[in-house]
Amino acid sequence: MKKTDVLIIGAGPSGTIAAAIIKKAGYEVMIVEKLVFPRFVIGESLLPRCMEALEEAGFLDAIKQQGFQEKFGAKFVLDNNEVCDFNFNEKYSGAYDWTWQVPRANFDKTLADECEKMGIEVFYNTEVKDIKINDDESSITTVLNEDGNLEEIHARFIIDGSGYGRVIPKMFGLERDSNLPTRETLFTHYIDKNRNAVAQEPNRITVYVFNHTTWVWCIPFSNGITSLGFVGFPEFFNNLAGTPEEKLRALVSSHTALNERFGDCEMAFEPKEIKGWSATTDKFYGKGFVLTGNVTEFLDPMFSSGVTLASVSAQNAGHLVIKKLKGEEVDWEAEYMQPCMQGVNVFRTFVMGWYDGDLHTIFFSKNQNSDMRKQICSVLAGYVWDDTNPFVKNHTKQVKTLANFIRQTQESEVGK
Ligand SMILES: Cc1cc2nc3c(=O)[nH]c(=O)nc-3n(C[C@H](O)[C@H](O)[C@H](O)COP(=O)(O)OP(=O)(O)OC[C@H]3O[C@@H](n4cnc5c(N)ncnc54)[C@H](O)[C@@H]3O)c2cc1C
Repeated sequence: MKKTDVLIIGAGPSGTIAAAIIKKAGYEVMIVEKLVFPRFVIGESLLPRCMEALEEAGFLDAIKQQGFQEKFGAKFVLDNNEVCDFNFNEKYSGAYDWTWQVPRANFDKTLADECEKMGIEVFYNTEVKDIKINDDESSITTVLNEDGNLEEIHARFIIDGSGYGRVIPKMFGLERDSNLPTRETLFTHYIDKNRNAVAQEPNRITVYVFNHTTWVWCIPFSNGITSLGFVGFPEFFNNLAGTPEEKLRALVSSHTALNERFGDCEMAFEPKEIKGWSATTDKFYGKGFVLTGNVTEFLDPMFSSGVTLASVSAQNAGHLVIKKLKGEEVDWEAEYMQPCMQGVNVFRTFVMGWYDGDLHTIFFSKNQNSDMRKQICSVLAGYVWDDTNPFVKNHTKQVKTLANFIRQTQESEVGK
């Protein structure tokens, strides 16, 4: 039987960041990963806050060497011409004002390779099949290894960073329905030959409002490829005919700016469809384990919060697992679950505010209060744990109050 201090399920950002932090503290760490890397996964636009976690894990130099596209902001475009452009260097608080836009296959492989260089064993093509937690909180995990054999791993503690696999929530019955409605995406990578001709900055994500419930992400990479995806209710996509490529081409051709840029571009792969990604979990910890990243809760691609929430939860989980292995008491509810939920809840307010129109009102209003703009910019940069920011501390009230105030002002101006 293999033995380790900490067994980590999944070699995505949450698994590798937690692994590196714990290994640096002197403990043995092993990662089991179901797939062989590089593998495709969606989630390509990062937020500045995740840089702090990548830095603590010791990954920044290796990522810099990959030459990924630097990202300095987020731009929102309504009706082809109304633009709201946030530069992260305008934000209210937070250390980093830039990050990257990354093809995740290369990015995740870079992190996993760094783990191996640190002496962490990463077992690819190895899938968790069963977990038994012992009375002393250690565990025996059964995996199907790359040779097709069942094998047992004894660990003092388990971190589940299995992303959409949601291994422990499914195995231990912790899954819960999300309070967000089902949405769907249709996306591909375009060979973006018109990028320079149409003067689109590569150094930010651009979000196009397609209609009041549908939006489009446009994420340029440094390799000349741009990720483009439509997100909306399933009914929106059900009304389209043809193959995924025909559907995406029809959507692009119906939008002036997108058609100009991508109408005659080749796709790097047949567009993919994903539906119903929002998921949550009863409790993010239990006897002998902690959940990180998407296994805890995943909201929505709007505002690109996924990798940042995954990275920060992994950073926090890493610290607490070290504390636990040292024999100190950990209050998982107060020290882990509550901070995780704070981040998720701030983003939930922003996601809901986007879909109910409050953030359209705020982003595209003509007269923007510069202090509030900076505070909102901090949230968009992923700094959602700074309670001195009113859009963090009182997120729901702030968004509603500001949107209502702008609407009333607009109505009174129309009435004059
Ligand atoms: C349409 C869409 C767009 C998105 N866009 C963005 C974006 O722009 N920016 C952003 O930050 N986030 C985005 N996200 C979210 C992002 O995809 C995730 O939040 C992020 O990948 C979570 O990282 P993770 O480490 O938790 O999990 P993952 O990156 O999913 O990694 C988990 C790993 O666990 C492995 N695994 C699963 N099951 C098992 C098992 N049984 N045994 C062993 N290994 C297993 C998987 O193979 C995988 O490699 C988007 C999500 C969607 C649905």
